[in-house]
Amino acid sequence: MAGDATNRDERIKRRERNPKWQNPPLYIDMLDCINCDACLRHCPPNFGAIFNHGADVVIIPALCSGCDKCLPVCPVDCIHPHPDWSAADVPTDWWALPLSEHDPY
Ligand code: SF4
Ligand code: SF4
Repeated sequence: MAGDATNRDERIKRRERNPKWQNPPLYIDMLDCINCDACLRHCPPNFGAIFNHGADVVIIPALCSGCDKCLPVCPVDCIHPHPDWSAADVPTDWWALPLSEHDPY
C-alpha cells in the first residue's frame, strides 16, 4: 500500500513505526553498553534500526520491529523492551542517522 509505514524508507520519511508490528521496540541501556556494535551488525537491513551516534549505540524505536535478533549477540545483556516508547522521546538528531551517507544499512 502506498504511503504507509511498511517499508523502511517510508518509516524514515514519516518517522512512524509500522502499526502492524506486534512486539514492542527495544532500547539500549547506555550505562551498560560497551559499544561493541555486535547488535548493529545483526539488525536486519529491512529494519535497520541501530546506529552509532557519537560514542553511543542507539536504537530508533520507530524502525525497530522487535524481532529480537540483536538480543542474543549482546555480550552484556543491555538491550531491553521499550513498550512505553513515545515518538516524542526520540531525539530529533537521531533521525539524521538513517539519512546520512553513513547509514550502515
Ligand atoms: S529487535 Fe530487531 S529490528 Fe529491533 S533493533 Fe533488534 S535486530 Fe533491529
Ligand atoms: S551488542 Fe550490546 S554492548 Fe554491544 S553495542 Fe549493542 S547494545 Fe552495546
